[in-house]
This record gives sequence, structure tokens and C-alpha cells, in this order.
Amino acid sequence: MEQSFAGPPYDLGDLIPELAVLGRRTTLLLPRSGSPGVGESSLGGPMLWPADEPWPSCGQQGHWAWPNEQSPAGTVSMVPVVQLFVRDVPELPFPEGMDVLQLVWCPLIHPRDQACAALPELYWRSEADVLATGVLQDIPVPQEGEYEEEFMPSPCTISPTPVVEYPNWDLPQELQQTLQPRIEELEERFGMEYTLLACALQNKVGGYPAWNQPPNWPVCDRGHSMEHLLSVTPEEDLDMEMGDLGGIYVFLCRQCPELPYAHRYDC
Ligand SMILES: [Zn+2]
Ligand SMILES: [Zn+2]
Repeated sequence: MEQSFAGPPYDLGDLIPELAVLGRRTTLLLPRSGSPGVGESSLGGPMLWPADEPWPSCGQQGHWAWPNEQSPAGTVSMVPVVQLFVRDVPELPFPEGMDVLQLVWCPLIHPRDQACAALPELYWRSEADVLATGVLQDIPVPQEGEYEEEFMPSPCTISPTPVVEYPNWDLPQELQQTLQPRIEELEERFGMEYTLLACALQNKVGGYPAWNQPPNWPVCDRGHSMEHLLSVTPEEDLDMEMGDLGGIYVFLCRQCPELPYAHRYDC
């Protein structure tokens, strides 16, 4: 069976000591097509959603899908994108009392000033609380014309794998120039580009955003720098082409008690 790319094959901090302090731990998700259960971590799988809470929908004006550039009438059901149980991503700090993280998004294209891509929403939950309430059985599915194919992930199980990675676009320019000759030497030696040697440009939690264009780190309303929570990028098994879009990156502010989040995307 073909394996998903398992992340950087070398620890570049060992080979280029100046990089060592920039190393960050990240958990690769390594999605594989499958039939994940509601009680499992997944990409595009069924979600452990409380029966007494309405499934989220998007009523954003002006969102649309190819080929008709008109907004569907009424609201559109969001779709499951990421579900993570703390037991599978022990390196990700969860808020007190929470052990499930869920990301859904509206699978339409949103106007540029808002997103120009899918519109994500984040939920933290307690598995025990949801089980006590009962699990929502029928998650609504968007109808024809209410979704953009590239934002509809197919169900995948995941194999969370912790690795250390180094910055790509987040590498300070001056350091990048200093290291360039040694980076090129390593690229030559291993027959691999720096981004493959050092970075995890794939579905992951923590680490550096997988962006493939200059960084655009969000700041929360109170002025705190946000941390990278997770990256969702097109991978074969996920069945998301995502067009020209490199990926969607979700950020979190842990300094604010309400845990505000934001997203960025490559366009
Ligand atoms: Zn929408
Ligand atoms: Zn904040």
C-alpha cells in the first residue's frame, strides 16, 4: 500500500546547528481513505456532535460554487473536516475539561474580503458530555450547488505521527541567506529540496503552518500573536484538489480565555 509522505526524513537541526532552536514539534495526520467511526479521530469523517446542538450552517451572503456564481438561497450545511481526540494527539494542549477538537467548514467559496475559500469553525468538546447527551445521528449534507467539490474531504482515518520540523517561509531572511550554501549542499547530498528535508507541508497539528507563500500570521482582537493550531492541505486520499489553494491554516489565541481562532489560506 502506498504510504502518505511521512514528513522530514532527517532532523535538520543535527545537520545545521543554527536551525536547532527553530525546530518545532508537529503531529502529522497522514490521512488514509477509510471509514472512521464517530468515536475516532479522522479527516472528513463522522463527528461526535451533541444531539441537542444544531449542526452548524453558513448563512454568509455571497458564498458560491462553480459553475453558478450565485449564492444558494438560505443557509448551507457545513461539513466535517477534522476531528481529533486528545488520546491521538497528546502533544496538543486541550482546554481544561475538553478532549475533542472539531473543525467544520462551509464548503463554498467565500468572497475575498472574508476568505476566498471555505469558511472554518472550531469546536472544543468533552467526549463524556456528548455521550451523556446523545450523539447527533443525521448530520445534514449540503445539496447539489451548495458545495465546491474541492472543499469536500473524503472520509479518512489518520495515523498521528510526531516529528520535528523547521521553518520554510518562517525562516528569518538573514539566517536563510547565511545558511543558503549549506542548505544547497544538503539538497545536493540527499537529492531533495529543503522543504522536503526540513518541513512538513501536509495535514498536521502544531509546528509551522504548511503555507506555500509568505507568512501572514494572524493577531487576535486584543493584539496577541496567535499560534498555529493545524493545517489542512490537499492530499491524495482526502480527495480535495483545492484548486490553486495551497491549504487552509487555523490559528488559536490561548492568551484569551474564549480561545479566539482565525484562519489563513494560500490563494
Ligand atoms: Zn458559506
Ligand atoms: Zn488573544
